Amino acid sequence: MNPNKLEECTGRTQSHLVPLDQDYLVHQEALIAFNSLKEEASFAGFDLTAVSTFRPFEEQLEIWNNKALGKRALLSDEGEPLDFNSLSEEEVVFRILRWSALPGASRHHWGTDIDVIDRKGLPGPDYRVQLVPSEYAENGIFGGLSSWLDQRIKDREAFGFYRPYDTDRGGVAPEMWHLSMRPVANEYLNDFSFEVFEEFLNSDAYKTMELRHIVLKNAKKIYEQFVANVNLNF
Ligand SMILES: [Zn+2]
Repeated sequence: MNPNKLEECTGRTQSHLVPLDQDYLVHQEALIAFNSLKEEASFAGFDLTAVSTFRPFEEQLEIWNNKALGKRALLSDEGEPLDFNSLSEEEVVFRILRWSALPGASRHHWGTDIDVIDRKGLPGPDYRVQLVPSEYAENGIFGGLSSWLDQRIKDREAFGFYRPYDTDRGGVAPEMWHLSMRPVANEYLNDFSFEVFEEFLNSDAYKTMELRHIVLKNAKKIYEQFVANVNLNF
């Protein structure tokens, strides 16, 4: 892969991004699509709002290292905090990956992927959005938006957006809040082959990553289970 494309793919440049609202950056092609989806959502009574978009490599590395050192909670599949000291290094790595991407291999690096809420569903101004399944369940605060999105995606009327983590494939836990602009995201995913991933893992970008030796030893499994293992039925 050419060096510029690799930087885009792994969250180490912002040159392909444009601002969304005040606080966010997205891929320029995702901006138009997202605004169109937002407008349609408003006609249906929802305030479709981004709460997480592009995330740089360094930020993902910090999340990773905090979890790998036990400074930030590791969660069970049910979302309950686990006892860090009872886990092996390998268990820690795979536990992190269930909920957080490996730095360099997050779809949030591409600017095509956006975590969303329905601002109108917020119970009050002090409510802290958690991005957990219960908020998006049928009777959850964002349940209405979630079923509206289901239908739009099914009808192919979501301006290219879909859910890469719609069900549990044994990799990343289901994330109903995570939308991806498929036409552009797929190009990144296709370019980010296992060979590219493995070569990048061996580069200096990772010199400060905790548990790197475990990641390197399990590179193939991590790639297959957590990077390539997304919803491709569309
Ligand atoms: Zn996300």
